[in-house]
Amino acid sequence: MCAESSFSVRILYTKYKYAWRGSDPLEVEPCLCVDDRSLGVLRDPPFSDFSNQTDFMVSKDHIQAQPQPSCCSPKTPLEYEAVIFDMDGVVTRTASAHANAWKRTFDEFLRARSEATGEAHRPFEHPQDYLAHVDGRPRYQGVDAFLKSRGIELPFGKSADAPGFETVCAVGNRKNEVFNEVIALDGVGLYDSTLSLIHQLRQQGVRIGLATSSRNADLILSKSGVEELFETVVDGIVSAKLGLKGKPEPDIFTTAAFCLGIDPSRAIVVEDAVSGVQAGSRGGFALTLGLAREDNEAELREGGANVVVNDLACLSPETLNDYVIERKPHV
Ligand SMILES: [Mg+2]
Repeated sequence: MCAESSFSVRILYTKYKYAWRGSDPLEVEPCLCVDDRSLGVLRDPPFSDFSNQTDFMVSKDHIQAQPQPSCCSPKTPLEYEAVIFDMDGVVTRTASAHANAWKRTFDEFLRARSEATGEAHRPFEHPQDYLAHVDGRPRYQGVDAFLKSRGIELPFGKSADAPGFETVCAVGNRKNEVFNEVIALDGVGLYDSTLSLIHQLRQQGVRIGLATSSRNADLILSKSGVEELFETVVDGIVSAKLGLKGKPEPDIFTTAAFCLGIDPSRAIVVEDAVSGVQAGSRGGFALTLGLAREDNEAELREGGANVVVNDLACLSPETLNDYVIERKPHV
């Protein structure tokens, strides 16, 4: 078989989206695509033999690992091979933009409902509403969970619904509209401490993935200029294509590990939302690290975080390794 090109897998996964081609039963397999052109079908066990390599020869239906350059070899043996980061609030300073967009959207909705029904207006609140029902969840699930907490039932609708208040999807789409206005106005900030840790991990040959419920990951990552740090991105769009369950189910994290060719037991999850650490905990990962940006250490620990920190500046590849070793059953 004649190879078409040679790619770095980092570039491969950044530029070529992992996608599910579900329209044709013969093509219902995960594959790597350039636009709509399949470069290679990921067969079972996908990439499992490639976990120590970073370069691949790619042809129409064959992916062959190339030897890993020695500069990427770990300085010290680590008990994990990949770290999968959540995006909002972990890599990007978009958590407050999301929280503000949710508050504007739900307050508009609740005010309109109050005027229509005569019920007292009770605004959307950050700790009891946002953190409890919305934070970290896929957008429409967040809408549904919050409305149910207030005893409000709306038809689910369709993702193509125009932004508005008639369906769960319409409310979610209104939130996205507001979020994009906020991002366009304020830009996207980054956590330098997270970027520093990612660079240290990459120097040690640790594989880096990103898993997020956001459907705006492409926009946010490209706007912030960090897309090439992540070998694989499993976002809300990929989740919809693959039919993945949202947090607190572990699907997006286990799929990111799958894309990297690393077993979850050899990977670490970094998350700032309770639903996210619940997902990491359920996924059988080597370590679920909670990042408490909201003074919510106790909630993250209760959710299943093995370790909780306030910022990643206190961590290095070696300290993460110590945490993983501490978690392992002693013989
Ligand atoms: Mg988050």
